[in-house]
Amino acid sequence: MSTRTPRTTNAAAFAAAQTVIPGGVDSPVRAFGSVGGTPRFMERAQGPYLYDVEGREYVDLVCSWGPMLLGHGHPAVVEAVHAAVDRGLSFGTSTESETALAELIASKVPVERVRFVSTGTEATMTALRLARGVTGRNLIVKFAGCYHGHSDGLLAAAGSGVATAALPGSAGVTEAAASETLVVTYNSREELEKAFAERGSEIAAVITEAVPCNMGVVEPQDGFNAFLREITQRHGALLIWDEVLTGFRATSRGAWGLSGEPEGWTPDIWCFGKVIGGGMPVAALAGSAAIMDHLAPLGPVYQAGTLSGNPVAMAAGYATLSSADDAVYAAVQRASDAVREGLVAALDAEGVDHSIQRAGTLFSVAFGTSKGGVKDYADAQGQEVFRYAPFFQSMLESGVYLPPSVFEAWFVSAAHDDAAIGTVLEALPGAVRAAAA
Ligand code: PLP
Repeated sequence: MSTRTPRTTNAAAFAAAQTVIPGGVDSPVRAFGSVGGTPRFMERAQGPYLYDVEGREYVDLVCSWGPMLLGHGHPAVVEAVHAAVDRGLSFGTSTESETALAELIASKVPVERVRFVSTGTEATMTALRLARGVTGRNLIVKFAGCYHGHSDGLLAAAGSGVATAALPGSAGVTEAAASETLVVTYNSREELEKAFAERGSEIAAVITEAVPCNMGVVEPQDGFNAFLREITQRHGALLIWDEVLTGFRATSRGAWGLSGEPEGWTPDIWCFGKVIGGGMPVAALAGSAAIMDHLAPLGPVYQAGTLSGNPVAMAAGYATLSSADDAVYAAVQRASDAVREGLVAALDAEGVDHSIQRAGTLFSVAFGTSKGGVKDYADAQGQEVFRYAPFFQSMLESGVYLPPSVFEAWFVSAAHDDAAIGTVLEALPGAVRAAAA
């Protein structure tokens, strides 16, 4: 029998998980470490809602950390996945579904080649290797507070769960790996100029989140991304543009639709994930043929994966991305605006000092930052973090599932209708009062 005995409470489920899984979770932020209380164990999801093992319903403002752009259980995605499952789970060969999804991605952003992997971590890790292989240089520049997954060289001053746990990096990363990453302050042209002036001939690539969303959302200052394009080109380095989170979510053309596209430039290597898998493990790196064809089997940069381009995952990704038309993005934007405006109104009504950072349909709140806003990691860390836990717990009690960390963006979907948004708006005043206390 493949069915399991249902556990009746979140506490019981968490206790059982802790006996066999480190910390009871497979990704640290899920443990509720920074917000306290019992992590919710979900049993199913539909539209804008999650349902936990106790049968409680929550409006989902995490959306699986981004992938569920259409909402949970979208009929086109479910049907495509069922059809793919019927044909076979995995063949270990190429399938036409990979070509179809690659073509779809290349029709939306200016890339010529797409290589599928299973996680965003793999995509950025491979992007670094590719950049090193192409340039023959070793150093990578990353920005403090940006998160690019958990490969060794990218954990220094990383956002997301690393920021939530207040870790400077991670044990187990060798000094050698760390020494090949230069960490600079986000939005600081001066620091970047200095890094290139001192070590420009050794720098293979600058990797950036197209809009950082893992220290909360931090907007690139005017022209900052274009500056990254210019300085990397000037010094013969590549620009790795991490759109794992923002890709096909911030706008229909990702964060590139916010800054690169209007200004008419493109990065060298793009990284995608989340939405392109529609909830299945899919990520990708992409770019021009001239760069991407350095990958094996054509070129000397090795990369591989047993489940890369898995046909069921490809089906979910294709169904999601091909369903994401203008009406979907308009619905996501509308839901995002409604939640954000409700949040601001509730915070203003209670006089809670804050700033809101935005990237298309994505936004986040930072407490106590109205003066300078949040332009880098130090600003993000300097906010009144303590206000978030009571805020989060109050929202949870009212049936709204927020990211269990203040350093994350809020996600909505096209399925967030008036009823779901109404639940969020009703919950906000009480949560803001809890945050104000
Ligand atoms: N890059 C960015 C910008 C991300 O937000 C994430 C994950 O949140 C990653 C890379 C890593 O992706 P994954 O968790 O699929 O390894």
